Amino acid sequence: MANKRKTAPVFKDYCTSQLMLLPPSLDEMIDANHPVRTVNRVIDEIKIDPIVDSYKGGGTSSYNPRMLLKVLVYAYLCNVFSSRKIESSLKENIHFMWLSGMSRPDHNTINRFRSERLANVLKEIFSQVVMLLVESGQVNLKEVYIDGTKIEANANRYSFVWGKTIKNSEERISRQMQELWDYTQKIAADELGDNSSEDFSEIDAEKVKETIAKIDSALQDKPIDKKVRRKLNYARKNWPKNLERYKAQKEIMGERNSMSKTDPDATFMRMKEDRMRNGQLKPGYNLQISTNNQFIVHYSHHPNPTDTTTLGSHLKEFKRLYETLPNVAVADAGYGSEENYVNLKKLKVKAYIKYNTFDKESKSKTALRFEYDRDNDCCICPCGRTMPRVDTRHRATKTGFLQKIARYQSMDCGGCSQREECCKGASNRTLEINHRLASLRAEAAEKLNSETGIYHMRKRCVEVEPVFGNIKHNKGFRRFMLRGSAKTEVETGLIALAHNLAKMAA
Ligand code: SF4
Repeated sequence: MANKRKTAPVFKDYCTSQLMLLPPSLDEMIDANHPVRTVNRVIDEIKIDPIVDSYKGGGTSSYNPRMLLKVLVYAYLCNVFSSRKIESSLKENIHFMWLSGMSRPDHNTINRFRSERLANVLKEIFSQVVMLLVESGQVNLKEVYIDGTKIEANANRYSFVWGKTIKNSEERISRQMQELWDYTQKIAADELGDNSSEDFSEIDAEKVKETIAKIDSALQDKPIDKKVRRKLNYARKNWPKNLERYKAQKEIMGERNSMSKTDPDATFMRMKEDRMRNGQLKPGYNLQISTNNQFIVHYSHHPNPTDTTTLGSHLKEFKRLYETLPNVAVADAGYGSEENYVNLKKLKVKAYIKYNTFDKESKSKTALRFEYDRDNDCCICPCGRTMPRVDTRHRATKTGFLQKIARYQSMDCGGCSQREECCKGASNRTLEINHRLASLRAEAAEKLNSETGIYHMRKRCVEVEPVFGNIKHNKGFRRFMLRGSAKTEVETGLIALAHNLAKMAA
């Protein structure tokens, strides 16, 4: 068989030490529509005076704050959240190198800029970007869709401090202090002298120290029970410092019922993402956002796990940033409280907000119906009997909002065929009505069932939810890198800027 001649393969030139006559331009290597160009263009357009004002002036030259801001926003856009990884990207990734103008700040500089220079000023910068979106017609501030999500804090999951545990521990110390005092009174009443009556219901470190000193002096030469001796030694060593610690923790906790020792600003709350599937509460922050056209137009951080009480401060901040309020606010049933309905009405914001029983009421056909007779201020029960008002009481919610509750009671439920279904107890059926809330709910239901209401409620599902999906699922941002409320809020601002700019670039 004749030898078949094989053609030699041809390869392109390859030489890692090739010298270039002219240095390559990074700019030419970057696509015209690449998101990094959007970040560069938009951040160039905004004023960064609040950041510049935070520099002392004089001394060694600092890295350009505009460059650092661009790098951070672009890093969050690329799902790079760690300062060490950003530092690496500035040496390895041509987009970062182009954006930084080949500057190479190290991770300490990046981190200090993020947590110190941007704290308390990033929201102003974010609002300027939103105003650029408004001017370009991509968003409007008239209709906003509000919702919240919980993001885990950068804190140990077992670093909890519970308000209730502190209260129980203080009560236990009070009780045991009283027991020690009573014992001393029993065996050394004369030595205690005039100081024999003491009240330990209110206790602090000073009082414990003073009382133990008195007990020690009274029991000095007395034969005392071994258990009491041990208890006294333990109390002397531990109780004052424990009480000091409880006092400091209560001050940090404020109105909250828990906090993390690692990040004291974080509160323990139930997260949707429960990877361990054990329903365990985790330290985190409640992040509230307002969106329009799937752009984030406003964000706020809250320590309380429920959405209900966050709406007031969220909108107050909205007004401060944009000097206006939205005309329409759409939110889910988590926001449908009396306080929110009343406040939105006062602010002249049209609310499309469900209340917790809205869906149940719409579906339920068989529920027992009680009618209210406004003229006679009484209720008519399902079997037609009159229920006069028996009393009225006022109660304050956790936020101090006052509610008025009217109580009606049937005069006689005897012989009623519906008693088993209607009235569980032995006495006649009572009914509590918050008239203002009932009328606000009726108004809300009317709005929600209108054509516009149905449109907004449908749109709500494709407005806020996809934004959270993008942040948590696509970007993988489920846990903060930094600690403390101010610093985590900076991270939220960066992720919100990154979300908006990526959407702008797309
Ligand atoms: S149990 Fe009392 S309140 Fe209920 S339907 Fe019967 S009479 Fe009316």
